[in-house]
Amino acid sequence: KRLKEGLSKTKKGITDKIDVLIKSYQKIDEELFEELEEILIGADIGVSTTMEVIEELKDTVKERKLVEPQEIKEILQEKLTIILNELSFTALNVEPSPSIILVVGVNGVGKTTSIGKIAHKLKKQGKKVVLAAGDTFRAAAIDQLKIWGDRVGVDVIKHQEGSDPAAVVYDAIQAAKARNVDVLICDTAGRLHNKKNLMNELGKVFKVVEREFPEASKEVLLVLDATTGQNAIQQAKTFKEVANISGLVLTKLDGTAKGGIVIAISKELNIPVKLIGVGEKMEDLQEFHSNTFVKALFG
Ligand code: GDP
Repeated sequence: KRLKEGLSKTKKGITDKIDVLIKSYQKIDEELFEELEEILIGADIGVSTTMEVIEELKDTVKERKLVEPQEIKEILQEKLTIILNELSFTALNVEPSPSIILVVGVNGVGKTTSIGKIAHKLKKQGKKVVLAAGDTFRAAAIDQLKIWGDRVGVDVIKHQEGSDPAAVVYDAIQAAKARNVDVLICDTAGRLHNKKNLMNELGKVFKVVEREFPEASKEVLLVLDATTGQNAIQQAKTFKEVANISGLVLTKLDGTAKGGIVIAISKELNIPVKLIGVGEKMEDLQEFHSNTFVKALFG
């Protein structure tokens, strides 16, 4: 239900428009397909996926000799589900314990919030979680993470503003080992203005993890803001060059009518979207299952 609510803007952007479109046509023709194409591209599903869907749709219409516009909607849902099913669901890699999740992304995308939500999710599964305030460049980032830690009820390892992020992660790893922690979630600084800087900063943190925590299951999550559309794709490409991203978290899907970006991003980058943010609350983070996603859009 939360998913459905969270996707309501996208649903409006896609299915409500499709409903209007279908009603305005007497029969299926080329113009109808063109308008349908516009709707899908407008929802940021991506040009290649849209073309694929439209072609498949046309084939099916021809094969089944369909003429009624209403019949298109169901087939469209069917085709989208099939195409999305290629993006099979991938869970967070937190087994076996201990595990470490490094969270990367530029400021403002919802990194801290997502860390809090993930911590909540894992804690509810009975895991012992600790957070590391690895974004030491902003005092606010450290404070925010502490607030989330208190809210969720997990410890936060932090140093002062301006200290070395790798040192924070080092300390956090020692704490995680000493306290028998299942999952250590590390925030990192996301200063993208200079790729070399970013590479150096993240590289140092990755080295500490390799050296100090080789036994841990590893996950590197990139957080992207869905409301930024193509910009998010660009960010992902840059991060992909400097880090081994193992999964994506797409936030603020509730704030956009272009939720189709989930599809475009996972297809274009070939990295699984593992979690999607559909609101500001602790529970508003969901696993990304393609069929549930399509159902929430059409249901
Ligand atoms: P950070 O700078 O990347 O750590 O970003 P924050 O975690 O501080 O989030 C920035 C803003 O986005 C905050 O106001 C969050 O409440 C908001 N936010 C994060 N995720 C979501 C989401 O899934 N939906 C909505 N509506 N807001 C979100």
